[in-house]
Formats: sequence, structure tokens, C-alpha cells
Amino acid sequence: MAQKRILITGAAGFIGSHLCDRYIKEGYHVIGMDNLITGNLENIAHLFPLENFEFYHHDISKFVFVPGDLHYILHFASPASPIDYLKMPIQTLKVGSLGTHNLLGLARVKKARILIASTSEVYGDPLVHPQHEEYWGNVNPIGPRGVYDEAKRFQEAITMAYHTYHGLETRIVRIFNTYGPRMRVEDGRVLPAFFSQAIKGEGLTIFGDGSQTRSFCYVDDLVEGIFRLLLSDYVLPVNLGNPDEITIKQFADEILALVNNPKAGIVNRPLPVDDPKQRQPDIRRAKEILGWEPTYDRRSGLLLTYEYFKQVVH
Ligand code: UDP
Repeated sequence: MAQKRILITGAAGFIGSHLCDRYIKEGYHVIGMDNLITGNLENIAHLFPLENFEFYHHDISKFVFVPGDLHYILHFASPASPIDYLKMPIQTLKVGSLGTHNLLGLARVKKARILIASTSEVYGDPLVHPQHEEYWGNVNPIGPRGVYDEAKRFQEAITMAYHTYHGLETRIVRIFNTYGPRMRVEDGRVLPAFFSQAIKGEGLTIFGDGSQTRSFCYVDDLVEGIFRLLLSDYVLPVNLGNPDEITIKQFADEILALVNNPKAGIVNRPLPVDDPKQRQPDIRRAKEILGWEPTYDRRSGLLLTYEYFKQVVH
């Protein structure tokens, strides 16, 4: 059988680069694409010498052209941290809307199956807990997170429209907080912030009183779920995440204990506007449809991630 060719947008980003690794390992020909506004070529530098990897430095909000056959598209390009989308609100809206439209068009021309990266942010500050896929969410369209949340909601809507109207093969994954090596140190998200502060012996910046909760999934588990979803025949959104929920205060304590730097401590900062109070994925659908569930507990995932941050934080 001819080698399968897959386009991965956001290839130089945290999750995108891990997906490149996985599909290379599975024997696919991987075409990475990224405009590098938040991605980092270091994440995929090791792939450049390979024959079955190529890379385009391109902004997918503009017309996307890829020569040759294409069997699959994974759309993972977007700023993804609250700080980034505050800094780049228009790009965030464009990549989720115009970028997705371009890729759906490309998928149609190539008769490719497309999987788009959606997010737990479609649930906003959720009034249902844990969040299952049938919950419609509680999103403030004009708040600081609206640019990301609404772009992703639009992305889901246009993806479903291409499926129903054009019969395109589409998949939608709703990704909950994910962590692991290659997260950007300064991306402002809680795990890179806490690790770099703990390693440098600074105060870990807890926003608000730290009673808000999140549930953290190790990146290899997420990638396995995405791999299974792409090969499945399921078109409705599927949550992927680790249901093990903790408060941000507990999370800070765990990282302090792991890094064990006597100079590090805790400082409190104001809670950002519209920061969701609680978040936990309901993963029954993923279990049933994909036979998937996370395999890394937080301790083993954090140990692997710490090894990475020790190398990149100075
Ligand atoms: N947070 C924090 N200190 C930080 C960064 C984030 O207390 O330095 C909190 C933030 O307010 C949120 C949680 O950690 O409640 C997760 O934030 P993150 O930016 O990682 O992602 P989110 O899940 O909010 O998209």
C-alpha cells in the first residue's frame, strides 16, 4: 500500500510536534506546517533530516497549497495559552476561522480526512461538571478568552457543516489541559510557569486563591487518543483528557515538592477575568468509542516533564 501522507498544522508547537513524532514512527509521510508565532523549530529539528518529513513555514489563515496526494489533515495550529490569545487576539480568531476554512477546502480537494483540535474552552466556565460532550457550554463571547473560545466553537460548526453538506470525513477532538516536554517556558500556562518559578527559586504565582480546579493529561496519552480518533469512524466531538482533577493550590504544592528548591514559595496574584472555576473531562465517550483512557498518573507525567524543564529553564 502507498505511504499515507498527513498534513499537520501547528507542527512546531507543543502537541503538534509530538503528533509529528508519532506519525513518523507509524510510517506516514508527514508534512508539517507552522507560521512559528508560538511554535518553535527546535521541537521538530530532529525530524528535518528524515526523508518522510517536510516542513512549510506558512500561515494557514492564508490560502494553503500542498502539492501531491494528501490522505489526512490534523489541524493543530493556534495560539493556545490565555496569555498568547490576549497578545494575539486577531490571529487567534483568524486561525480558528479562516485557517480552518482553508484546511476544510484543502481536505475537500484532496479527499482527505481532517481532524480538528477543539478544546475544553468550548464549555467556557462550565455549569455542568464534569463536562460531557453534550453540554453546550457557558462562554462569554466578548471576554478576553472569547477570541479563542468562539473561534473554536466556530471551527466545530464549520467542520460539522462541511461534513453534513459536502460529506467530508471529519473528526473533532476536545482537548483538556495537557502537559509534557516542549511546552513553551514563557507561554504563561500554569505548568510552565510553576516549573520555571520553582527551578529558579521564585514564588509560584497562584492566580486567585488557587481553589479553581483543572485536570491534567500527559501528552503521550493525548496523542494516543488522537491517533485512535483519526482512524475511527466517529464524527461527533470527543473529549480527551485525564479526569484526575486537582486545585491549582494542590498543583503548586506538588511541583514545589517535586522540585524541592528551598528558595521557591508561593505568591498570590489576581484571578484573570473569566477564568473557569472547575474543569474535568467526562471521558466515557472516548472509552466507549476508542477504547481509550489515560495511562500516566500525574506523578509519572510530572517527573518526565520536570526532566525537560530542567534542561530549558536557566
Ligand atoms: N494559573 C495560575 N498561575 C499561573 C498561571 C495560571 O494560578 O501562573 C491558573 C489559572 O488562573 C487557571 C489555571 O491555573 O485557573 C490553569 O491556567 P492555564 O493558563 O494553564 O490554562 P487554562 O486551563 O486556564 O486555559
